[in-house]
Amino acid sequence: MKGNESQGLRTWAEISIAALRHNAAALQAHASSGARLWAVVKADAYGHGVEIVVPALNGLADGFAVANLAEASQVRALAPEAPVLIMGPALPSERAEIARCAFLPAISSQEEAAGYAACAGVHPVAVHLAIDTGMGRIGVWEDNALATFKTIAAMRGVEITGVCSHFPVADDDATFTRNQSERFGALVEVLREKERFTGSVHIANSAGVLGFTSSFADCYRAGLALYGVSPLAEYQSLLRPVMCWKTCVILVRDFETGRGVSYGRTFIAPKQMRVATLAVGYADGYRRHLSGRNAWVLIGDRRCPVLGRVTMDQIMVDVSDCPEVEVGAEAVLLGSQGSEEITASALAELAGTIPWDTFTGIGRRVTRLSVDVGNAPALREQRARLK
Ligand SMILES: *Cc1c(COP(=O)(O)O)cnc(C)c1O
Repeated sequence: MKGNESQGLRTWAEISIAALRHNAAALQAHASSGARLWAVVKADAYGHGVEIVVPALNGLADGFAVANLAEASQVRALAPEAPVLIMGPALPSERAEIARCAFLPAISSQEEAAGYAACAGVHPVAVHLAIDTGMGRIGVWEDNALATFKTIAAMRGVEITGVCSHFPVADDDATFTRNQSERFGALVEVLREKERFTGSVHIANSAGVLGFTSSFADCYRAGLALYGVSPLAEYQSLLRPVMCWKTCVILVRDFETGRGVSYGRTFIAPKQMRVATLAVGYADGYRRHLSGRNAWVLIGDRRCPVLGRVTMDQIMVDVSDCPEVEVGAEAVLLGSQGSEEITASALAELAGTIPWDTFTGIGRRVTRLSVDVGNAPALREQRARLK
């Protein structure tokens, strides 16, 4: 229980390399045979730490997908050989660097294509043309896709090496998604037959690859599932959670009946209680929305309810039933301990949000540590090095 005390860490997230690799392999086994994986590692690998995740998946994933140029450069430094797809539009001022580094930008317009063409060196700049088939975010509208494709294909200095789209409701509207997938598939067929397009095709996110088949696509972009959370509950058993987010007890005190806990005094001790103060707050990503929502943490393999409001740097939990709890004890905020588990989906739901938001909201104060399941010595060593 006092394992972490001597190591000087207060709040940290243990990232299982073995689970990450398991999930990548599970997705590959589940996807249409031969489909390639773009591992989505935007937003610091969904808060898991890009420096841990990219090396762990290098070689297993066929490439890495990110949101912007800064993230692409980070990935390049970690996996110099791997293709890097930038899924969102770049600023005009970023294009020269993207072309120079041979990152693969997804573009939405002929203006962007012309911008990249102007940055071309000896070779044309390879781009993927994003087509909006229902997401309403980026891409050329479906009805203009063929015309835009033709215009760009005729430009010098730029080459369309792929076309892509995105599912907005693959996790909750199968009818829309199937129809959307068919429309995109039909469009791809036209491009292949009429425009002699031979490039790559992708549309599926995690929910898409788990729940739907798109035989016309040769790759998919998975994020959340890699981190062990299935957007479709029926596939959860294929995946293993990757993160265990922990903090420690920094104080234990006895509360007399009638004493209030935290800002707003929204919780008043109804009886004598033991209350532990933990080294985590909303500044670390433990959402303030978890206040008064019957959230709990795990200490000593037991559920300890969060009392009162979440503050910036600390939360208070009820440890009346855990007399052995002392300063330095480990508390699990997300993940498992003993036979208990707090899933990212459950924590997100309590906070009124989604697991993507919960993961990416985990703050910079939280140290990310890579750990192989059951590999305690390596973890201890890493923590000691960090001291
Ligand atoms: C973030 C993102 C993904 C990954 O989505 P998951 O649901 O996490 O798998 C895929 N494609 C695009 C365009 C994205 O922005």
